[in-house]
Amino acid sequence: MTHRVRFAPSPTGWLHLGNIRTAVINWMHAKQAGGAFVLRIDDTDLERSTEEFRLGIEEDMTWLGLTWDDYAKQSERFPEYDKARDGLIASGRLYPCYETGPELELMRKTASIQGKPFIYNRSAYPMSAEDEAKFKAEGREAHWRFALKPGEIKWDDLARGETSFMAENLSDPVLIRGDGSYLYTLCSVLDDIDLGMTDIIRGEDHTSNTATQIQLFQALVDQKGLSAFQMPRFAHMPLVSGADGSKLSKSNGALSIRDLRDEGGLEPLTIVAFLSRLGTPDGPQPVTDIGELAASFSIERFGRSGPRMDPEELAPLNGKIVRQLPFDAVSSRFEGMTPAQWDAIQPNLERLSDVSDWLSLIDGPISPEIEDSDFTAKAAALLPEGDLDGESWKTWTDAVKDATGAKGKSLFMPLRLALTGQPRGPEMAVLLPLIDREKIITRLKGSAA
Ligand code: GLU
Repeated sequence: MTHRVRFAPSPTGWLHLGNIRTAVINWMHAKQAGGAFVLRIDDTDLERSTEEFRLGIEEDMTWLGLTWDDYAKQSERFPEYDKARDGLIASGRLYPCYETGPELELMRKTASIQGKPFIYNRSAYPMSAEDEAKFKAEGREAHWRFALKPGEIKWDDLARGETSFMAENLSDPVLIRGDGSYLYTLCSVLDDIDLGMTDIIRGEDHTSNTATQIQLFQALVDQKGLSAFQMPRFAHMPLVSGADGSKLSKSNGALSIRDLRDEGGLEPLTIVAFLSRLGTPDGPQPVTDIGELAASFSIERFGRSGPRMDPEELAPLNGKIVRQLPFDAVSSRFEGMTPAQWDAIQPNLERLSDVSDWLSLIDGPISPEIEDSDFTAKAAALLPEGDLDGESWKTWTDAVKDATGAKGKSLFMPLRLALTGQPRGPEMAVLLPLIDREKIITRLKGSAA
């Protein structure tokens, strides 16, 4: 069975480091097996879903390199959901309930006071025609529940191992609201069938939903007569907490992808590399290509307890990644930069947004910092003749040392400060031949160039 997975965001907000992690894990799981990644927009909640959020999600995913092989939008599939609904009603698995919101709230509270989970008591199932007429006369609107069949529901979860629920301990899920609108469950399960999902990977907060969904899968598959259907594999990933160990939120780690992108300091690959290993004992890998992350990805590496997410770890990882990128991966972003210039500045980079600052050491203008102008004037006179190359720095500083007696830091630092205006930076031996000869002389004389 080829892997087909999906990421199913609701376009009701921006993607952040917490929810995009599910996309990263799904993407990696599909790609390591040569499978397909589907982006499914869960936009049945027409009131809260917006076009702006949908486009934003797609933009963020594209920026991160999480490309999709197939795409679906739930709002375009209402006729399919209607068909499924009608079939379930006809087979008696979907039944109308007439409790009002406050009545249900009271039932929930009562269960909670008794220290029990709320399990719908099926007071309305089956319902006599008389009762139904009475409720309707009261102006009540029916919402619709899916009737679970008693018995054990179990599956071998890729993340949690053997997982099982007794249907008797679960509440019949509501599939359709009083106003006739669909809840996520029916749409999601039908989509997972129709889109041929083989693996469903999501947060462990969905674990008990899966138990009810397995019965719904079965009911819908029977309805469609899909005799060759295979139940997808499920993986419920432990939830990530914030850097401080508490529930993940904006203030402790769930930074939005769009903000991270706009700040311009992090490579998208850094975010993906970080998230694809968070929760495994393997540290994040500083790779230069997203495919490398997929090739070595394994869902079995994830532990059973939820990791903490500390966005502070992103910057050092970004530095490692940037310092490995080949010239070809970055040249289009920095017009005019030569391979030699890239080689010179790369070891000093923490982020690509620093490239132009470092390049300015070569092309200038920089303001030299000079303490002893006699020393730098002598050095200027000793600069080797002809084209400068990788040996020139050594030849030059040997000559300056002989002429002035300066050595070590007091030999190198004044030259670095004069030539770059900074106490730290790329290796001078590499930098020197890249700076225009006239600029070198001008800087040694103390003028900006
Ligand atoms: N739209 C659902 C959510 O964001 C998808 C859950 C799922 O993966 O089934 O929770």
